[in-house]
Amino acid sequence: MDVAIIGLGHMGLAYVERLTETGHRVVGYDVSAQAMAALVELGGVPVSTLEGVTQCAAPVLLSLPDPHIVEQVVKDLLAAMGKKPLPGVVDLSTTGPVHAKRLARLLEAENVPYAEAPVSGGVAGARSGTLTLMAAGSPTLLDTVTPLLRHLGTPVRMGDSPGLGQTMKVLNNLLSATNLVITSEAIAAGTASGLDPAQMLAVFNTGSGKNSATMDKFGKYILSGRFDQGFSLPLMTKDVSLALECLHAVGLPAWVSAAVLETWIAAMRLLPESADFTEIARLHASYLFVDATTSSEIYGSQG
Ligand code: NAD
Repeated sequence: MDVAIIGLGHMGLAYVERLTETGHRVVGYDVSAQAMAALVELGGVPVSTLEGVTQCAAPVLLSLPDPHIVEQVVKDLLAAMGKKPLPGVVDLSTTGPVHAKRLARLLEAENVPYAEAPVSGGVAGARSGTLTLMAAGSPTLLDTVTPLLRHLGTPVRMGDSPGLGQTMKVLNNLLSATNLVITSEAIAAGTASGLDPAQMLAVFNTGSGKNSATMDKFGKYILSGRFDQGFSLPLMTKDVSLALECLHAVGLPAWVSAAVLETWIAAMRLLPESADFTEIARLHASYLFVDATTSSEIYGSQG
């Protein structure tokens, strides 16, 4: 099956890699020349305009940073479309439910079916085909693209209404983001009290404190000093903010979520924009600082 992908960043290129390996012809478009060069190296077919994307007459997958960029790209894509409507647009980006509904209306007004399938599992999950995809929107379009999405992971149909997949995704990331900040706080407190962080992790993982951060991220990306999970700090902050919007939309209290968002916003202020989201652990633990300026901003000259 042919497919077009718009947005060839960490995730988009991992989709290209996996889908070309599994025998698909993948057409790609990105505003970054570096991303387009990487697409070619992976065996994808570059197109230099959105008009070129529409001419492929293939379903279009979006993997773009945030809701505003997604909406602008979709508007430009519709403007570039010829008389024949596109077979469908599937948004794999994390954009939240409010935006998903707007996007569905925009596309359906031009007879282009809309679906969403935001993902969990990161770059490693995309490369190995083990993502979880939280799908919603046009059942017909989802039936068409499901064999393709199965090469990326397991699609779970959350319902037909646009936004249900996005709701599931941002709430999933709220838990993931919370696990990471609370684990960072606990390990920093233990380390400052004389415990060994690696031993703490091992004990959490056989005890009732285990979670996605203790079992995977903390050892692999933080204690190792790698900080290269491939998901940026601004994107995780966006996801937590979208999750909070969901809680507010249904009128529920959001005490913990609000504190978690505040922590991610503090990280945005104190760490470089290019930071990996795993670097949030640096906020809590002076032993993880490599940058003395940032350290002293948080801890004062004791840093
Ligand atoms: P990224 O920042 O690495 O890549 C985004 C790409 O979009 C970049 O290559 C950028 O050049 C391109 N882009 C920006 N504006 C564009 C435009 N107008 N037209 C065409 N291309 C444009 O982001 P990512 O980490 O690949 O994430 C993509 C989406 O997937 C986000 O919504 C993110 O929240 C979600 N997501 C990411 C991960 C992860 O681990 N990285 C995991 C799950 C979900």
